[in-house]
Amino acid sequence: MKLVVLGSGTSVPHSQRASAAFWLETERGAMLLDCGGDTAHRMAQENLDWPNLDAIWVSHLHLDHSGGVANLLFGMKAAPKSRKRKKKLTIFGCEGIRKLLEAIDGTNNYELLDQPFDVEVREIAPAPIDAPAEFDLFSGIRIQTVSTPHKPESLAIRLTETNGTTLVYTSDTGYDERLADFARGSNLLILECSFWRNKPVKHHLELEEAMRIAQLASPRRLLLTHLYPEWDEVDIEAEAKKLWSGEVVAAFDGLRIEF
Ligand SMILES: [Zn+2]
Ligand SMILES: [Zn+2]
Repeated sequence: MKLVVLGSGTSVPHSQRASAAFWLETERGAMLLDCGGDTAHRMAQENLDWPNLDAIWVSHLHLDHSGGVANLLFGMKAAPKSRKRKKKLTIFGCEGIRKLLEAIDGTNNYELLDQPFDVEVREIAPAPIDAPAEFDLFSGIRIQTVSTPHKPESLAIRLTETNGTTLVYTSDTGYDERLADFARGSNLLILECSFWRNKPVKHHLELEEAMRIAQLASPRRLLLTHLYPEWDEVDIEAEAKKLWSGEVVAAFDGLRIEF
C-alpha cells in the first residue's frame, strides 16, 4: 500500500497541518481515510489522481474528518476531469454521513449525490471494540471496524490486502487497551496522538497512552497524527522513542509511506 498524508492536523486552523485526511492506494483501488475540509485541494496539491478516487472512509462526524466530503462532491460536479468519470464512488463509514450530506443538500439543492457516476453511501453501525464488523471493499480488501471511545458513531478501521498487508487507522479516540488487540501486528498503525501530556479531554490520546497502545499492538511501523498546535515546539519522535523502541514516524502534510 501507499499512503500520502494530506492532513496531519485537527480542527484548529494551522499553517502547516490541514485537518485529517490520508490518501491510500491499495492493490484494488484508491481511497481517502477521512476527508477534512481541506482535502479536495490537498489532493490536487499532492498531484494525486483524485478524479479516479474509488472510496472515501469517514470515521466520525466531526468536521475535521467529514467536512470535506460535500466540498469534494461539489467540486467534482464542476471539474472537467471528473465529468467523464463512469466508475462508482463509495462513501462509507460512520452512521450519520447520509444525514450530513442531505442536510447540506437540502440547504441549497446542491444535488451532491447526483453525479455523472454512481455514488454509494454505506453507513456502518457501531461495533463493540472486541467484536469487529467485517466486510469486503473492492472485492478483495478485507475491512474490519470497531467503535472507539470518542463519539457514539466514531469508528476505527483495519484494512487487509489479499497478500496480508494490513493498515489500521484509529482516527480520534480516547484510551482503551483493547484498541491494541484490534491493531495487533499491523504493517502500519495510524494512531491519533492529539496531546503531549496533561490532556484536557478524555476522548483523545496523549503520548504516553498512544505509546502504551503501540507497545501492546507492536505494529511494524507507527504513524502519529491528529497533532494539535501544542506539538509545534516538540520533537515528537524523540519523545515517542523514550516510551517505545519500535519505528515511530510523526506525520506531516505531504509525507509519503510505502509498505
Ligand atoms: Zn479530529
Ligand atoms: Zn473527533
